[in-house]
Amino acid sequence: MSTMDGLDDAARDTTPRPKLDYPWGEITPGAGEVIEIAPGVLWARLPLPFALKWINVWLIEDGPGWAIVDTGIGSEVSRENWRAIFAGPLGGKPITRVFVTHMHPDHLGLAGWITRKFNCPLWMSRLEYVTCRMLVADTGREAPDEGVRFYREAGWDEDALDAYRVRFGGFGKAVSRLPDAYRRLTDGDTVRIGPRDWRVVTGSGHSPEHACLWQPELKLLISGDQVLPRISSNVSVFPTEPQADPLSDWLNSCAKLKAALPQDTLVLPAHNEPFYGLHARLQNLIDGHERALSRVERRLQQEPRRVVDLFGALFARQIGPDVLNMATGETLAHLNCLVARGRATRTVGEDGVARYAA
Ligand SMILES: [Zn+2]
Ligand SMILES: [Zn+2]
Repeated sequence: MSTMDGLDDAARDTTPRPKLDYPWGEITPGAGEVIEIAPGVLWARLPLPFALKWINVWLIEDGPGWAIVDTGIGSEVSRENWRAIFAGPLGGKPITRVFVTHMHPDHLGLAGWITRKFNCPLWMSRLEYVTCRMLVADTGREAPDEGVRFYREAGWDEDALDAYRVRFGGFGKAVSRLPDAYRRLTDGDTVRIGPRDWRVVTGSGHSPEHACLWQPELKLLISGDQVLPRISSNVSVFPTEPQADPLSDWLNSCAKLKAALPQDTLVLPAHNEPFYGLHARLQNLIDGHERALSRVERRLQQEPRRVVDLFGALFARQIGPDVLNMATGETLAHLNCLVARGRATRTVGEDGVARYAA
């Protein structure tokens, strides 16, 4: 599997990074091991079959057992890792609840398996749960005409469109059957986990209603993919909503988190390592996208361009078939944002391909 459907994160960051502080340095938990981050808060890591090699998951002491935040992708390797964690560091104590930050398979993949195994509830935001149910329901369906038109307008050739048709509906393959009921997390909620209250802070743009969990006394933020230290989270437009402007959502979310959360928070991200420097990183993400918007706009000023002509303005790497989907979605996110700001226009030609002008 690769980063298909833009459901994983892409390494794309040409903006100079601020110096962030990683208190654990090179130390990471090994397979079946945990590292204690704070009293009653543990860090474990599960392998991923992507260019992105790991996802971090978090365990919070919760009365007689442990609550889990994020679950890893739905693979046998992930299950083996979990069994080792359940039997080893957790000493056979039960899992009390499964929190999922957002619906991407690396985060939600084993939520069904764990909630059934321990007969415990799944907690997520409503849009993440419902969107996930929708994507799982696409599994095995044929690619819709709307999707083919969407990628044709972006400038894909017939080979790429064929690959899309073949690949469509793969989402459910990396996700263990989801529970048919869940408990809702809403922005601003306080959730008692063990002896402490955790606050829900949501963001949007990478996924529709991504939930972060913040614990003010311990000064911890479980940030999921909403704030990552070394990766710029994928922000994409999908065929379901071609005119969506997720980049504005993302920029607003970065500003919201910067205003809502203190600078001395230890960030526990889903990928890479725990770090200090939350405000600097959020500002850096905002600046990176604003710069990218300007680079795209400059190319449009030279001549009208298709989506596929603009990859060079956004990505340092060559865009091959494995990441074409993600690159197209992210380029469209920048274009739709420019259109929303009145800095670009879009026209579909007689060839069925959209061209953008400044
Ligand atoms: Zn994600
Ligand atoms: Zn992720």
